[in-house]
Amino acid sequence: MSNTILLKTDTPEFANDISDEIRLFLSDAHIITEDDGACDTVICTSLVQTDYNWCARVTSDGDFCSEYTFEYPYFEGDALTVKRHKKRCIKIAAFRMMKKAFPNAFVPWGSLTGIRPTKLLRELEDDMGTDSAKDMMLSLFDTEPEKYAVAKETADTQRPFIRSVEENDVDIYIGIPYCKTRCLYCSFASEIRTAKTDMRPYINALKEDIRLGARLLQDGKFNIRAAYMGGGTPTVLTEDELEEVLDFALECYGTMGNEFTAEAGRPDTITRKKLEILKAHGVGRISVNPQSMNEKTLKLIGRSHTPSEIEDAFYNARDMGFIINTDIITCLPGEDIQDVLYTLECIEKMRPENMTVHTLALKRSSKLKQVIGDAEIASIMPDTEIASLMVDAGMKSAKKQGMNAYYMYRQKYMRGNLENIGYALPGTECLYNIDMMEETVSIMAHGAGSMSKRVFPGRSLRVERIPNPKDVGTYMSKLHTVYDEKERLFLQ
Ligand code: SF4
Repeated sequence: MSNTILLKTDTPEFANDISDEIRLFLSDAHIITEDDGACDTVICTSLVQTDYNWCARVTSDGDFCSEYTFEYPYFEGDALTVKRHKKRCIKIAAFRMMKKAFPNAFVPWGSLTGIRPTKLLRELEDDMGTDSAKDMMLSLFDTEPEKYAVAKETADTQRPFIRSVEENDVDIYIGIPYCKTRCLYCSFASEIRTAKTDMRPYINALKEDIRLGARLLQDGKFNIRAAYMGGGTPTVLTEDELEEVLDFALECYGTMGNEFTAEAGRPDTITRKKLEILKAHGVGRISVNPQSMNEKTLKLIGRSHTPSEIEDAFYNARDMGFIINTDIITCLPGEDIQDVLYTLECIEKMRPENMTVHTLALKRSSKLKQVIGDAEIASIMPDTEIASLMVDAGMKSAKKQGMNAYYMYRQKYMRGNLENIGYALPGTECLYNIDMMEETVSIMAHGAGSMSKRVFPGRSLRVERIPNPKDVGTYMSKLHTVYDEKERLFLQ
């Protein structure tokens, strides 16, 4: 089936949301809103208000014919609330129309397309209680019971951490957007650090960014709750560079709060000395990320390390008393369920405190998508049923290791419409991951491509964001302009 779809809607403000629902079923659909005479299917949506309800009707004809009408109680409230309910109504109608057309499609999260299902569940529970929230997730959004269960477990684990947030709390993020090689699936704007890369300009800019941010937080009397050094791969810095950045950050901020985490993602960038430097600067948690423990996969996806280097780095960090997270990715090209089970078996033997199970999201900017054609990708990637088994295997392994789900997020283009889940042994959850994913704490972010956020708590919680440019050169040249925006945001 060719997939050019003409979307005719009387609510163009929700065209992207309706398109997201269509792509749950037809991931490569090319959706247009202007008729070019070359479409294969026409989808029409309408939304009208009756005395007590919103009534959404969605129909399709062409390559597939279907229709669905959905009524949703009219909701009084401010403009934002009314908009949210209208959007919900049209999204559910679009989802159900597509589900009628493709009854066997694998859509375990139902009509939910947002990246934070736990945030939604928490809001629903706060508004209407646990039972009604569950009913909405299952009956209104058509979420599968097992997805509701994992969202519920995650939300319950998070609650005490979220309750502990004070009004002026802020987290610090320091980004090093450089890696040793580029992973085949990477869609981040990270640069490759070679032997010739001059890191000095970036380090100088990052230090200036940190200096300004620290001053701002002091002026605003913010309280630092947690800090995170991410990337890219922060341990791609040399030992001297790493020490210089950490020395400077601690000097400016004075503290990194209750928790300091660093990604040491690529095991081949970790040395004992770097671990000592991290430890000496108060880093208590690190991520050593195998992604897979299968050598053939590591080569295929462009990671420049071997499974034994992963173990060496892990046990070095273990000797030094870090809380360790290991990231793995399911649905990697060429892997079957046995490969994933083997990776999980290796992780279980290492006994990390945290394990994050990702599902591969194939974004257009990744080398995998650009270099290999869609047909070939389909031949080397697991189908949705296997993808789901892989994610279940990750969940079972986490349970076997005594871990609970504590944060989760979804991305567009994820294999099988699945999710990423962070698991932790009780008492070892990463505060920063919860704060960042649930958007419950402001973040002062430093480094190219990082995102500062100000969270304004209250009944209608508001989050405002200020991105640093992704391109390193632009980041350096715009540093002070972005600082002015941060000043406005954090001191308002
Ligand atoms: S380690 Fe992460 S940021 Fe670096 S290339 Fe791989 S996916 Fe991209």
